[in-house]
Amino acid sequence: MSENNTVREIRINPIMPSESVLVASARGLRPRQEEERIPHDSRAHVDSCPFCKGNEEQTPPTILAVPDEENWNIRVVRNLFPVLGTESDQSNISFGMQQVMDGYGHHEVIIDHFEHGMEIHGMSHEHLEMLVGTYRRRMEELYNSDDRIKYVLVFKNFGSAAGASIKHTHSQLIAMPIVPENVYNEVLSSQNYYRKYHQCVFCSLIDEALTFEATIYNRDSGEVRRKIDVGQYVVERGERFIAIKPFASRYEWEVHILPLRHQSDFMQITPEDTVDFARVLKRTMQRLDKVLGGAQYNYYFHTVPRCELSNDCDESYHWHMEICPRTSIPTGFELGSGLFITTISPEDAAARLREAL
Ligand SMILES: [Zn+2]
Ligand SMILES: [Zn+2]
Ligand SMILES: [Zn+2]
Repeated sequence: MSENNTVREIRINPIMPSESVLVASARGLRPRQEEERIPHDSRAHVDSCPFCKGNEEQTPPTILAVPDEENWNIRVVRNLFPVLGTESDQSNISFGMQQVMDGYGHHEVIIDHFEHGMEIHGMSHEHLEMLVGTYRRRMEELYNSDDRIKYVLVFKNFGSAAGASIKHTHSQLIAMPIVPENVYNEVLSSQNYYRKYHQCVFCSLIDEALTFEATIYNRDSGEVRRKIDVGQYVVERGERFIAIKPFASRYEWEVHILPLRHQSDFMQITPEDTVDFARVLKRTMQRLDKVLGGAQYNYYFHTVPRCELSNDCDESYHWHMEICPRTSIPTGFELGSGLFITTISPEDAAARLREAL
């Protein structure tokens, strides 16, 4: 699709049909204010940074150090200001319209790399494998040691607009006693899809991205209304993982990484999978950095929760990572309507990311 090709349409998210996005790619249309790009911080060490080597006493005690406490490459510590904690022993209360659950849970910080300014796209494959292995290991240990935990959300904020308060590269993990709404809705929606079509909706989307080809014509004029090409939404393809630009996503440059073979639970990732995942993640982040340079972003993992729901969603749910670059600030229209506007069409965004490397 060329740059002059104006798209103005409302697209329904195939995974969450209750969500939609307005793609309005008219040239020069800028309904939203842009987020600031942040300059690359190439410093390996900053004396005053609590996450830098040598300053370990400035953080809460180590939960896990990889490979060991003395020569750590990755370090996991308790969050100094946890949003959920284990110390309170309040019970749940309910009064009229007010229902309150105890703010129970665990909040950990994963210091992704010992080098201060190291970004995901700059890390070695081996280091990224170690990082993904650390995410997995902490999730497993929390699920196994605490049966109140229903979901462990692993996420990363990069840049202040994405919520990061410390510049040193880090991720976070929040283990909570509830299934968060976004995961719950995805699990339910994909179960509904599975009941109707006997197929996983994520697998169907991958198949479509890899094999679908179609031309939709205007019935009256015979003009081409839309052309769907093979690979149009594929940003990066590995042996076991694929990075896709969703056809209807809330953020202009949002990219999802999914296992090619059906896998419901991130916990099922094998060492061989991890090698390919690290490669696809690095290439995807390199592409985003090439196109967006210094964009602030969030990423997080969506996987099967530990609750009644999970027994029944092994076939229908498919774990994935969502990467959401925050290139513009949502407006009142978007917050009020829930209808997000993207001013570059997902097809153009995918093409630019593919061409970047
Ligand atoms: Zn640092
Ligand atoms: Zn699947
Ligand atoms: Zn998701």
